[in-house]
Amino acid sequence: MTKKEIYVDRLHCKGCGACEEVAPEAFRLDDSEKVDYLGDDKTSPEKIEMAANLCPTKCIEIIEE
Ligand code: SF4
Repeated sequence: MTKKEIYVDRLHCKGCGACEEVAPEAFRLDDSEKVDYLGDDKTSPEKIEMAANLCPTKCIEIIEE
């Protein structure tokens, strides 16, 4: 299976919360309304991908290694 790295560009995150709604185990908004990536141990790759697709500023990047 291909290993994937997830990168969140916090600079362009506008704090809409869509990713957190889809995958709350992986993404959480912090006090400054920017998203923190918590890791993908507790969520499925499909949910991560769905969150990335929903992000309006496309700041969640899935990098296949
Ligand atoms: S979906 Fe994108 S813009 Fe919205 S909170 Fe998540 S990372 Fe930020």
